Amino acid sequence: MSKLHIYNSLTKQKEEFKPIKEGQVGLYVCGPTVYSYVHLGNCRTFISFDMVYRYLKYLGNKVRYVRNITDVGHLESDADQGEDKISKKARLEQLEPMEIVQMYTVDFREVMAKFNAFPPNIEPTATGHLIEQIEMVQQILDNGFAYESNGSVYFDVEKYNASEGYGELSGRKIEDLMAGSRDLDGQEEKRNPLDFAIWKKASPEHIMRWPSPWSDGFPGWHLECSAMSTKYLGDQFDIHGGGMDLKFPHHECEIAQGCAATGKKPVNYWMHANMLTLNGKKMSKSTGNTLSPAELFSGENDKLDKAYSPTVVRFFMMQAHYSSELDFSSDAISAAEKGFMKLMSTVDALRNLKSANESSKDVQAYVDSFYDAMNDDFNSPILIANLFEASKFINSVKDGKETISAADLELLQKEFNGFVFDVLGLVKESENANSKMDDVMSLLMEIRSEARDKKDWATSDLIRDKLQEAGITIKDSKDGTSWTL
Ligand code: AMP
Ligand code: ZN
Repeated sequence: MSKLHIYNSLTKQKEEFKPIKEGQVGLYVCGPTVYSYVHLGNCRTFISFDMVYRYLKYLGNKVRYVRNITDVGHLESDADQGEDKISKKARLEQLEPMEIVQMYTVDFREVMAKFNAFPPNIEPTATGHLIEQIEMVQQILDNGFAYESNGSVYFDVEKYNASEGYGELSGRKIEDLMAGSRDLDGQEEKRNPLDFAIWKKASPEHIMRWPSPWSDGFPGWHLECSAMSTKYLGDQFDIHGGGMDLKFPHHECEIAQGCAATGKKPVNYWMHANMLTLNGKKMSKSTGNTLSPAELFSGENDKLDKAYSPTVVRFFMMQAHYSSELDFSSDAISAAEKGFMKLMSTVDALRNLKSANESSKDVQAYVDSFYDAMNDDFNSPILIANLFEASKFINSVKDGKETISAADLELLQKEFNGFVFDVLGLVKESENANSKMDDVMSLLMEIRSEARDKKDWATSDLIRDKLQEAGITIKDSKDGTSWTL
C-alpha cells in the first residue's frame, strides 16, 4: 500500500510523512480570533484540518491535536498597529473583553460540533499562557534576536535573517520586503520597519494588559502560537496548519520566533488550507462577503434556494482538495446534496448486501484506492470519486449482476463506512432519524385508519391522544390523515 505523503508548504514539495516518533503525531492548527461569529470560510479551514486529524488517527497514529483560541494580541491591522480586535468589540458592545471571548468561543465550538468536527485535544488560550509567552520573549532577547524599545520588545528581523534566513516559508525576500515597506506612524520604536512586536507596551487606554519585565502590556499576535505549540508539542513537532492567508506574516514569524528561541526549526511539515470564496472573492469578515453557518442551516439568505444540513455542507467541502480554492454557490451546494444522498443510499445498500462464494471484482483494489487517495496529500475529492466507483460495484451486487464473498463484504463494509464516516466525517443520523420518523408515523396512521374502519374508536382515539401528548398533532380530512410536529 502507498504511504502518506504531505505537500509541505515549507519545501514546496510532496514528501513522505515521517513523524518524529513513529505512531505519534503532533498537530498544531491556528484557531480563531474570537471577536465575531465564524463564517463559512473560517469553518472550511477548520474542517479541512479535522479531516487531516481524522485520517492520521484512522491510520492508527496517536495524535495530539492542539488548536488555540486567540483571545488577545490580534490587532486590527494584523500587524503592530491598531486596537486589539477583542477589546474593540468589547468597547463597542459595552462588555468585558472576556465576555466577548466567551460568547464567540462557545459559538465556535457549537458550530464545529454541528459540522461533526472533533474538538482538539488541547485548546489553549493566549491569555492563559502569558507566562510562557513572557518566557519566550526573554529567551529571544537572551539569544540576541530581539531588542527592547520604550517598554516594547521587537523581533530583529535583519539580524535573524543574517544568521538563519527569513522568508523561507512565504518565499519573500527581505530586500523586497524592505523596498515595499513604509515608515508608518508609531513605528519609530523599531530599528527596522520589518521588525515585529513580540511584546507591546500598552497605551493608557488599552485594557487588556499584564505586567512583564519590560512594561505593562500584551504579547504580539504571532508569539502565542509559538509559545503554545512549543509547550504542548515540543521545540520541534510534526505538522503545523492554518489558512493560506496566515502564511505571511503569521507563520513566517512563528518560524523565526521558534528558531530564535530554541535554535531549532519548530515545524517539520507546514500545511496550508485554501480559501472558500463567494462570487469568486475570498469570504472575509472585513469585506462583508460572507455566509454564516446559521444562514446555511436555516436557508435564510438570498444566495440560497433552501436550507442545507451541516453534513451536506461538509460533503461539499470534501469534494474539493483542501489546498484548492473552492467557490460557494447555490448550484454547487445543491449538486453536493444530490451526491451526498447517492453516497448514503450506497451505505444502505452495502449494509443489506448478501454475500456469495466468490467476489466477481477485486475488492481489495477498491479499498486500496481509498487509502491511495488519502495518502496522496489527503486527496478527499479523489477519495469521493473512488467511493463512487465502489458504489457502482455495490449496486451491481445488490442488483444481482455481480457477487461478493463474505470476507470481502466484511472488508468493504468496514472500510467504505470507515472512510465515509470516520475519515470524511459525514453523518447520516438526521436524514435517517427523519425518514425513520416518517416510517413510524405512517405505520401509526395505518393502524389508526384500520381501527376507524372497524369502528374501534378506543384505539383510534388512544393513538391520537398519546401523539398529542408527545406534541404531534394529527388531522383527519377527506384527503386522509396528516400529522404535524
Ligand atoms: P481568524 O479568526 O481571522 O484568525 O481566522 C481563522 C482561520 O480562518 C484562519 O486560519 C484563516 O486562515 C481562516 N480563514 C479566513 N477566511 C477564510 C476563507 N475565506 N476560507 C478559508 N479559510 C479562511
Ligand atoms: Zn497561529
